[in-house]
Formats: sequence, C-alpha cells, structure tokens
Amino acid sequence: MAAYRCAGCSYTYDEAKGAPREGFPAGTRWEDIPEDWCCPDCAVREKPDFEKVGVNA
Ligand SMILES: [Zn+2]
Repeated sequence: MAAYRCAGCSYTYDEAKGAPREGFPAGTRWEDIPEDWCCPDCAVREKPDFEKVGVNA
C-alpha cells in the first residue's frame, strides 16, 4: 500500500491506516477516495495535489 502527502502541508494519507475521521477506514485505496476530497489539515489542497511518498510492505 502507498502513502500520499499533501503538497501544501505535511498531512499524509496512508492507505494502510486510512483516515477514520474522514470516513475512510483502514485499507481504503487512494483510488477509492473522491477526486474532490480536500486535505483535512489545510483544507486547501485537493486529492490531485497530493504526492505519492512511498509504498509500505
Ligand atoms: Zn494539506
């Protein structure tokens, strides 16, 4: 699974952990997150702005 980091702040979405407070349970794939989802930390950047930061085993 991969992780994706917001280009505007340090928030990172990790597929293995999900984002429960955003309504995405652990294991939610990046491709399953809506394209118009905004970064929960800065609320400025949207999904297309995130950068892939790595793959976890
Ligand atoms: Zn952000």
